[in-house]
Amino acid sequence: MKTKVLIIGAGLTGLSAAYHLEQAGFYDYLLLEAAPTPGGLCKSTERQGFTFDKSGHLLHLRDPYALDFFRRLLPLHRLERNAVVYTQGVQIPFPFQAHTHLLPQPARGVCQSGLKNPPAIKHPKTLQEWGLAAFGPGVYQYFLKPYNTKLWGADPANMTAEWCGAFIPPAQAKSGQKLGYNAHFYYPVKGGAEAVIRALAARVKHLQTNTAVHTIHWPLKTAHTARGPVAFERVLSTAPLPDFLRLGGLGALAKPLTAAPIRVLNVAVKHPFNRFHWAYFPDEDAPFYRVGVQSAFSPANAPEGCASFYVELPGNTRPSPQEETHILSALAQKGIIKKEAVLFTFWQYLPHAYALYDFARTPAVQQAVRRLEGLGALLAGRYGLWEYSFMERGFLQGRQAALDLLKDLA
Ligand SMILES: Cc1cc2nc3c(=O)[nH]c(=O)nc-3n(C[C@H](O)[C@H](O)[C@H](O)COP(=O)(O)OP(=O)(O)OC[C@H]3O[C@@H](n4cnc5c(N)ncnc54)[C@H](O)[C@@H]3O)c2cc1C
Repeated sequence: MKTKVLIIGAGLTGLSAAYHLEQAGFYDYLLLEAAPTPGGLCKSTERQGFTFDKSGHLLHLRDPYALDFFRRLLPLHRLERNAVVYTQGVQIPFPFQAHTHLLPQPARGVCQSGLKNPPAIKHPKTLQEWGLAAFGPGVYQYFLKPYNTKLWGADPANMTAEWCGAFIPPAQAKSGQKLGYNAHFYYPVKGGAEAVIRALAARVKHLQTNTAVHTIHWPLKTAHTARGPVAFERVLSTAPLPDFLRLGGLGALAKPLTAAPIRVLNVAVKHPFNRFHWAYFPDEDAPFYRVGVQSAFSPANAPEGCASFYVELPGNTRPSPQEETHILSALAQKGIIKKEAVLFTFWQYLPHAYALYDFARTPAVQQAVRRLEGLGALLAGRYGLWEYSFMERGFLQGRQAALDLLKDLA
């Protein structure tokens, strides 16, 4: 096989690249996907009338082109965020830093005085310094530190601050605005998050599933795939960056790149629940760091009178039956589920969920990008670029990669 453009991975980013190439009338590309169906992380599982995503997958659409595109692509609900934080024995609205007046003492006093007088740190380099400078020691001690330590499995003092501004909302909103990038969001009316993928994949002609790229021979510009060799002129990878480097014999560049894995316990229950869309759990009394309500995103996600949850935990170890019982007990103890109403549960594992922003990450990504650019490769997507990002960004990066390729190949 021979193609001008080889795209590796048919998640949202790879599909977007293929779609935008076709929109420009360019069909000399091949989109290869290792899995039997496209979608990557944006896939959904149907069970007994319930639809579960791979933990929450909500569309945060701010770019006018993306918003218009997805609204035309498929029917979407628009929802106003209802998120809470369980901490210190109370439930307060998210974000924590904007609702410290609702905390019990002594947390309230410590957080509020810190917010009034945060330490002056001119150029915060670590997540710890960033949190202290933005909100003071109280919010850092009671929320940012314990929550992020749980999620990333790393000490905020050893993590960089470069992703914080985009994802952690300030303590005060500008007038007329709601706090955070996810103050409202969109979600498919039917079919879970994967409905987005199905609609987009239907508009893409040269997608081949069950076709993993096993190795890349750079001098011959040939990919060895599950269905034989493919000669290419340019390659766009949306596969996890460390994997892509290894495919082409550049594994040494991947060594500094690490990720925080997560495990998700999906729970279906025979009672309704509509108190929040998702909740954060910074304290040690909960083994999980976040719980989302899948059934709250669309009535089509669960049978009437039932609810469904995704419970996110750090790590990649297989849970013992005792661990699952402990998680369900913690959910029941917090009044989220009734244990006797549990219909079924199942686990999902996301081995490289969050690219770890330690001090090795950014120089290593930059070095890898330079090396791969020199070989004519482009990278896009949350894992392709080994970054903290979301669906809209992947979609736009796929479009940009298509435009860059069209320019180069013209
Ligand atoms: C826990 C969690 C929650 C999230 N929640 C949200 C959310 O609510 N909203 C949001 O906008 N974003 C969310 N995201 C981010 C979102 O999942 C990603 O931004 C987006 O889905 C990434 O799409 P992608 O196509 O870049 O990568 P992927 O979805 O990872 O797709 C890459 C594809 O490449 C394929 N592949 C890999 N290697 C090869 C190979 N060698 N050969 C062929 N194919 C290969 C894989 O099988 C996969 O299908 C979340 C992420 C996580 C981890």
